[in-house]
Amino acid sequence: MATATCIGCGCTDTRACWDETADQPCHWLVVDYRAGLGVCSVCPDDLSRWENGDRTIAVPVEQFMNETVNEGSLEFALEEATEGIEILDQLIASIRQHGNYSKEATLTFLGQARQCFNALQRHAE
Ligand SMILES: [Zn+2]
Ligand SMILES: [Zn+2]
Repeated sequence: MATATCIGCGCTDTRACWDETADQPCHWLVVDYRAGLGVCSVCPDDLSRWENGDRTIAVPVEQFMNETVNEGSLEFALEEATEGIEILDQLIASIRQHGNYSKEATLTFLGQARQCFNALQRHAE
């Protein structure tokens, strides 16, 4: 599956960030899957940059490199799992407060949370 990275916050298709205004996971305002880049709904300020042709990712690249380097470590797995727990907590709190999401949004969330446990699962095997 092709994924794209937001030039504003560095979120991706598989790791969407939380859109506080819409109270659901972010979606793409613009996305170019061929370039692997986009601007998500949390980063409307970066739309003008995108339109001016500035498609550099604002988040330090180092952060991503560290992640790649440590990907097999237990520390990474635990960090990922913690993120998964946060996603689930947010989902639970939001549903409690506002009621159900659409089926699609719920599945997006649960899918994201589930993926956060992949690394831990590899360690458990
Ligand atoms: Zn973003
Ligand atoms: Zn986002």
